[in-house]
Amino acid sequence: MPEGATVAPVVLSSDKTTLTRFSGDKQAWPFYLTIGNLAKEIRRKPSERAMVLIGYIPVCKLDCFSENRRSLEGYQLFHECVRTLLEPLVEAGKSGMDMVCADGFIRTVYPIVAAYIADYPEQCLVVGCKENSCPKCVVPPKSRGDHQVNSVLRDPEETLQILKDQAAGEHPKEFNDQQLRPVDPFWKDLPHCNIFACITPDLLHQLHKGVFKDHIVSWATKAVDGQEEEIDARFCSMSLHPDLRHFKKGISLTSQWTGREHKNMEKTFLGILAEATDPKVILAVRGILDFIYYAHFETHTDESLVHLDAAWLMFHENKDIFIDLGIRKHFNINKLHNIRHYLDSIRSLGTADGFNTEGTERLHIDLAKVGYLASNKKDYIPQMTIWLQRQESIQCFCGYLQWAVTGYVAQEDEVAEEDNEKEEDDVGDDDRDNLEDNEPMKDELDQIVYRVAKKPSLMNVPVHSIINDFGALDLLPHLNTFLRASTTSPLSATPTTMFSLYKRAVLTLPPIREVSSKAVQDAIYAVRGKPETRTTRGNRRPASAAHFSTALVRIKPAEDRKGPLDGLAVVQIRLIFQLPEIFGHSPHPLVYVHWFKPLREPVDGLGMLQVSFSSHNRRQRASVIPLTDVQQSCHLIPAFGSGSAKELGWTAEKVIQEAALFYLNPYIRHYDFYFLQYRLERYLIVKKNQAREVEEARSRAIKHRRRR
Ligand SMILES: [Zn+2]
Repeated sequence: MPEGATVAPVVLSSDKTTLTRFSGDKQAWPFYLTIGNLAKEIRRKPSERAMVLIGYIPVCKLDCFSENRRSLEGYQLFHECVRTLLEPLVEAGKSGMDMVCADGFIRTVYPIVAAYIADYPEQCLVVGCKENSCPKCVVPPKSRGDHQVNSVLRDPEETLQILKDQAAGEHPKEFNDQQLRPVDPFWKDLPHCNIFACITPDLLHQLHKGVFKDHIVSWATKAVDGQEEEIDARFCSMSLHPDLRHFKKGISLTSQWTGREHKNMEKTFLGILAEATDPKVILAVRGILDFIYYAHFETHTDESLVHLDAAWLMFHENKDIFIDLGIRKHFNINKLHNIRHYLDSIRSLGTADGFNTEGTERLHIDLAKVGYLASNKKDYIPQMTIWLQRQESIQCFCGYLQWAVTGYVAQEDEVAEEDNEKEEDDVGDDDRDNLEDNEPMKDELDQIVYRVAKKPSLMNVPVHSIINDFGALDLLPHLNTFLRASTTSPLSATPTTMFSLYKRAVLTLPPIREVSSKAVQDAIYAVRGKPETRTTRGNRRPASAAHFSTALVRIKPAEDRKGPLDGLAVVQIRLIFQLPEIFGHSPHPLVYVHWFKPLREPVDGLGMLQVSFSSHNRRQRASVIPLTDVQQSCHLIPAFGSGSAKELGWTAEKVIQEAALFYLNPYIRHYDFYFLQYRLERYLIVKKNQAREVEEARSRAIKHRRRR
């Protein structure tokens, strides 16, 4: 490239969509473009408008062709349309084009098509292969289930030659071997473009929906005694967490599956299988789940990619159990094969979250569906186009005004502002208290540590109510122990002392680059149950269950060499309260906790840590500690054992009290996975290697001594 010139990696995306919710016959096929020079945080935010609509591919029934020619003509029509859309990129990619950059400088830019986001059928359409093959390599259909298959990557030059020979009537052998379709592809004239390398991982369709929901869940369910009924029963009595959707009726009756449901199932599925099936099934499922969680990392290192690969290997090393159990005959499934290419794609194109098809699905609302609603629903594509042009003009003009007029704030249209990242901001909305107007608690680095409501939600609660409603049986002795250790107050709490209680505290977890660029909000609750009541007007107010969060607390400073769990313990929060004023001023609210036994090593195979309540002289071990000792909430999966969950009779609301043994769930959030799985695994590997080295050195020394 000439000096000062730059490349703009062009990212394309297309996705056919229906325009109305109820009938599928009104469709549009938007075609989007963005560039890789933009940060992915900006690129995937619909309100930033970094992904632009450059056209609609026509959706036609092609009735004018005979039935057996119809699909072929359809493929070619797609390629002709995209060729027209991308025509300006051909010359610009070859000789560059002077463009004004955001900083005002003019640069010579070479736009090169580098990535294409699409679901599997469209990936095949784009590269020109059949739907039983791989859009990236020439793997034979019957080898798609193998882990170590020596598949050759598709080569654009070679493919073009085969297509040319096929068009000339020569019927080359490779045409069928490589599962090609007879098309004249749009990408043939695009400079420096390897369309096969452009195909990106598709987390939603390949992993969440495909490999996990459609395959692994159904196979693993068949490998459990009692099958669907048993799995449903376990989902029903799963312990609650604000970041977990509770499947009240189990999963087999759920008819509307979205990405959100899949992800929620992934959070507890492994814990549900624990002890209920063959250990190899557990390992295969764990391999898939770990792979899915690693594939979600927003930043990768060589090390995390090694873990990603190891997870995939774990699945393959154990998958034959499904054949042994008669559940599967083979694993020649596209989605299982696609995963083979994730590692290379992440290395060459960046982490998979940057190419999520969920992003384009969100764009459809702004750039197709809203436009359709504005039309008269007849011959709607031209109307939508005009509508979008006007929208864009208004946005441009607003941008100009904001730049030109000091203090001018453009009114955003409502739809665009509704971010699809709402999920993350959801900190549980069952009690919208006055959290928002409150001054958050900050640490020395001015980072928010926690927030509680301005006023406690229950004032002047007597001790007997705390004992009965919150189960904080030994509040007084433990509070007095705390007072003696941390205040100078000569007073002690007595049965007449009154307390002010908070329902919840929101913790801000420090951002982890692998997880998210934003800090994660985490809520802990201590809410008593309420019986059904009647209001003064006679309306029924239904009973509500108690909610006492489980959490990780710091009991001593962490020593890095002792692993990520050093100095941490699991507790159940029973009470969040303010130190009564008579004892002086406490800078932070206090919590009354029930302790679990110390954390040990993860359970073999399952890879999760086991925990149970800790008691002393038949009484629950408890303490009063400052809220600032609480590090984060955690999720405990009850150990259902190998029997029937129905017979256990546990309920989601009370299972923490009903079960005796739990697994600390690393899959509840990506944050927990990073911490409880990735970092813990890394530490255990280092520890194992060190132990081996010590052992080797010892045996060398013994040999040496013997020789002497
Ligand atoms: Zn492949």
